[in-house]
Parts: sequence; C-alpha cells; structure tokens
Amino acid sequence: MSHDPNCIFCKIAAGEIPSRKVYEDEDVIAFHDIRPAAPVHLLIVPREHVPTLADATAAHQALLGKMLLLAPKLAQEHGATNGFRVVVNNGPDGGQEVYHLHVHVLGGPRPWKGMAI
Ligand code: 5GP
Ligand code: ZN
Repeated sequence: MSHDPNCIFCKIAAGEIPSRKVYEDEDVIAFHDIRPAAPVHLLIVPREHVPTLADATAAHQALLGKMLLLAPKLAQEHGATNGFRVVVNNGPDGGQEVYHLHVHVLGGPRPWKGMAI
C-alpha cells in the first residue's frame, strides 16, 4: 500500500500526528476537520496514499464504496440528523489543499461557514 512520508494524512493514519478520530478500520480512518466549515465536519480518508480521485482505479472501487457508505453513518452518529453534504475536492481548480484523497462530510444545523465553492 502506498504511503508518502511527507503527507499529513498519511501521518495521521499512521498515528504520527494526533487527530480527533471518529472511526478506523484496516482501510480507512475518519476524524474531525481541524478547521470545521460546519457544526459537523468530518474527513473520511483511505489509509492508502491516493493523491486525488483522478488517481483512483478500478482496484479502489470497493474502498470508494466503503468511504461513501460511511458518510451517512458517521454524519448521523455525530449529530447531522437533518441532512449533510459530501464533498471531494480535486486538484487546483477543485480547491484541494491536501493531496491525499478524502471525503468531507458536512452537516449540523445551519448556518454553516461553508466551503469555498
Ligand atoms: P481539501 O481542501 O484538501 O479538500 O481539504 C483539506 C482539509 O483538511 C481542510 O478542510 C483542512 O481544514 C483539513 N486539514 C488540514 N490539515 C489538517 C490536520 O492536520 N488535521 C485535521 N484534522 N484536518 C486538517
Ligand atoms: Zn498520504
């Protein structure tokens, strides 16, 4: 499984940098975004270093499915009971800051600060 020693999300997945973890298994980890844009703002991150969604292949199909299916589960568990948003930023024009694939889960009572979209 690919790992980038300079990548912040690889370091979080490896436990080298602390995070407010809400879920983990052998494939993915989920934790609170450090700069929440909504009352509930979680990040679902694969353990494997895949830079962007455009780098994912058919080999990642089950992993991507697992990440998407986790979104409503974690949203509910963390209080986003009235709906939520799922966002994947990709590349410079997609506003991606961290080049390790991740799914944002945003929810909770509005107003939200929101993301730059
Ligand atoms: P992107 O713009 O790449 O889709 O989103 C990256 C997200 O990662 C941002 O919302 C940012 O707040 C979050 N983030 C960046 N560094 C850290 C960190 O060290 N810990 C946590 N928990 N979130 C981070
Ligand atoms: Zn990484």
